[in-house]
Amino acid sequence: MTFAEYPSLRKGVDLSEFTTWKVGGPAEWFAEPGCENELLALLAWGHQQGLPIRCLGAGSNLLIADRGLAGLSLCLRRLQGSQLDRNSGMIEAEAGEPIPSLARKAARAGLSGLEWAVGIPGTVGGAVVMNAGAQGGCSADRLISVQVVDPALPEQRIRLSADQLHFAYRHSRLQFEPLIVLSAQWQLEPGHDPAAVGARTSANLHSRTSSQPYQLPSCGSVFRNPEPQKAGRLIESLGLKGLQIGGAAVSTLHANFIVNLGDAKAADIEALIDELQLRVSEGHGVELQPEVRRLGFP
Ligand SMILES: Cc1cc2nc3c(=O)[nH]c(=O)nc-3n(C[C@H](O)[C@H](O)[C@H](O)COP(=O)(O)OP(=O)(O)OC[C@H]3O[C@@H](n4cnc5c(N)ncnc54)[C@H](O)[C@@H]3O)c2cc1C
Repeated sequence: MTFAEYPSLRKGVDLSEFTTWKVGGPAEWFAEPGCENELLALLAWGHQQGLPIRCLGAGSNLLIADRGLAGLSLCLRRLQGSQLDRNSGMIEAEAGEPIPSLARKAARAGLSGLEWAVGIPGTVGGAVVMNAGAQGGCSADRLISVQVVDPALPEQRIRLSADQLHFAYRHSRLQFEPLIVLSAQWQLEPGHDPAAVGARTSANLHSRTSSQPYQLPSCGSVFRNPEPQKAGRLIESLGLKGLQIGGAAVSTLHANFIVNLGDAKAADIEALIDELQLRVSEGHGVELQPEVRRLGFP
C-alpha cells in the first residue's frame, strides 16, 4: 500500500479534530476511508503490519489520551448511505451514516421507531456498539441485524442477528470484540403520517437541547445511570455542578456532562471523572461507572 493508492492514509494526525470533546493526541496511523473496499484494504494492510486497529465513528463517546494512539485509527464517518423501504419499514444504513439524519429520513418516509435518536450526535456504527438510547428508545429496540468484519479476516463479511449481540443498557458484545460494524438493519413501523413522526422527532430534539449543554464540546453523559438512580442527580446533590479541573468542568446545566471550556486536555477530563467517582462514592456509597470509552490510557 502506498500513500498515492490510499490518499486518506496519514501519519501523526491530531485526533482532537475527530472527537466531540475536542481532546486527544495524535494517531500513529490514521485514515478516513471513503468506501467499504478502501476500509477492507486498510484493515488488511493494518493486520499485515501487526498494528492495533481502532475505529472511530463521530467520536461522540470517546476520551482519547493526550499522548495519542499507537497503531491504525480508522474514522468511518465518510461511509454514509442508507436505503429505506417505506412499504415494509425496513431500513439499512452504512456505519458512518449520522444517526440524526437517519431519524429525519425515517420521519420523512412515514416510518416510526427512530424518533428518539435525533439528538444523538453519533454514527450508525457507534450507536449499535454503544446501544445508544434516549427518551425511552435505544438502538437495540428494532434492530434486525448488523454486518461486521473481523480485521483478521477482512475478506469475509459476517451478518449477526440482534440476539447475537447481547444487548443491555448501553451495552453490546461489540464493545469487547474487535469486530467492525459495516452496516445495520432496522425494522421500523411503516404507514405513519410523516408530519406527525417529524413533529415527535423535532420535539425530542428540542427537549434535549434545552436541558443539555449542546453549545460546548462534550461527550454527552459521562457515567452510566446506576438504575434506578440517575448519575446526574447524585452529582448535583453533592453541589458539584461547575466543579473544574484545568479546562474541564461539570456542566452547570446537566451534572452528568463534563464540558471542555476551551483548552481542556484529556488528562483534565480524566482527573475530573476520577474526582466525581470519589466524591459520589464517599457521599452516596455508589460507584459510578463511565459510559464514555477511554482509548490510549494505561
Ligand atoms: C451532546 C451529546 C449528547 C449525547 N446524548 C446521548 C444520548 O442521549 N444517549 C446515548 O446513548 N449517547 C449519547 N451521547 C453519546 C454518543 O453520541 C453515543 O454513544 C453514540 O452512539 C456514539 O457514536 P459515535 O459514532 O460517535 O461513536 P464513537 O464515539 O466514535 O465510538 C464509540 C465506540 O464505538 C466504537 N465504534 C464506533 N464505530 C464503530 C464501528 N463502525 N464498528 C465498530 N466499533 C465502532 C468505537 O471504537 C468506540 O468504542 C451523546 C453525546 C453527545 C456529544
